[in-house]
Amino acid sequence: MVNGYDGSRAAELPAATRELIARRDRALGGAYRLFYDQPVSFVMGSGVYLYDADGNAYLDAYNNVPSVGHSHPHVTETVAKQLGTLNTHTRYLAEPLVAYAERLLATHTIGSVTGNAEAQAMFTCTGSEANDLALRIARHYTGATGVIVTANAYHGVTAALAEISPSLGPGVPLGSHVRVVPAPAPGVNFTAAVAWAISDLERHGLRLAAFLADSLFSSDGVLPDPAGFLAPVIETVHAAGGLYIADEVQSGFGRTGTHMWGYQRHGIAPDIVTMGKPMGNGLPIAGLAARPDVIEAFGRQARYFNTFGGNPVCVAAASAVLDVLEAEGLPGNATATGGYLKEAATRLADLSPVLGDVRGAGLYLGIDVITPGTAGEPSGKLAAAIVNGMRERRVLISATGPHGNVLKVRPPLPFAREHADQFLTALQETVEAVH
Ligand code: PMP
Repeated sequence: MVNGYDGSRAAELPAATRELIARRDRALGGAYRLFYDQPVSFVMGSGVYLYDADGNAYLDAYNNVPSVGHSHPHVTETVAKQLGTLNTHTRYLAEPLVAYAERLLATHTIGSVTGNAEAQAMFTCTGSEANDLALRIARHYTGATGVIVTANAYHGVTAALAEISPSLGPGVPLGSHVRVVPAPAPGVNFTAAVAWAISDLERHGLRLAAFLADSLFSSDGVLPDPAGFLAPVIETVHAAGGLYIADEVQSGFGRTGTHMWGYQRHGIAPDIVTMGKPMGNGLPIAGLAARPDVIEAFGRQARYFNTFGGNPVCVAAASAVLDVLEAEGLPGNATATGGYLKEAATRLADLSPVLGDVRGAGLYLGIDVITPGTAGEPSGKLAAAIVNGMRERRVLISATGPHGNVLKVRPPLPFAREHADQFLTALQETVEAVH
């Protein structure tokens, strides 16, 4: 696993950490993973910092769920007030849910790049549930089953999504209705690969239900450029009768700075968009937005009820998140700080034999770690050393990509220039130390 604690150096850990890991293993079993050679434990979060029990501050350059900042006071107060007032499910008539759906939909361009007054939203608790529901809707609408994803995609935890998440590795088989295309990289004709996958499905008697892609290709190694490369893909998907599902779990809610949604950077209008992670700043709210004609038959024939999905407390959190994004101009900050960070990281990479290509959009950066002296050969091992070296310097990042060699830098959106500088100093020290 990328950036995983493997237990082989447990003897080096403080006794209390070792004991807690042992208890965790006993209680939770083998499927869970921990980050870092020296797992870290936090007791408090505020803004872009997390604090351990000794009061040490860790700069958070990793977590996109607390997107408007850890323990943001507006979100905290709004949620606490709602929790102390009313929390029910969605079978009672609730105006705040409707108002939130309207507000959210107004930010999308679904079905048409010029606007989507007609789009509709459905709410879930997790990104996985949103993708699972999107797949069900796509199959219902198209009458087809085929799904195309990228080579190292991750789309969630359900049985249907594990089958379309190649990043889970060879131990988790892909479905026979699934085709994998190479991640969009220089030299890859991505649209042609999608067209080939469609014809391969057809060769096996299957038709395309959906092409599903994370608009930033995070688990494929953070691949944002050039903006616009997805435009011909959606045409190919539509020509085959399939739907384009934009997975905005990673790229949504202003992360890319210039646009509220990652797909908008590409100038495309998906048929279904799925959302999650930052939506409630840590409260479990996620969902999808779709063309109404796509939802229509599903809505008629398949009753939808999700006990916790879109409950008043989660909706309060979600609307507080939109309040903060707007009031604090966080997408603008993502553009400004993200641009600064990318430029400075690129300069650092130009001088360092272990750092290669630097990619990013807004406050989502991927920095390649390479074996020195080679023509850019990926080094997951050095990336792990850098991730752990950053942790020693109390800066949190992780790694991603098929080789685990891409540093994943994805801080909460209030990340300011001073935080970027703190990150860059730690990165410079760490790359110098690891090689
Ligand atoms: N899609 C993408 C692109 C994701 O990164 C994730 C979570 N890492 C999911 C879907 C699933 O979201 P959740 O963990 O909330 O179920």
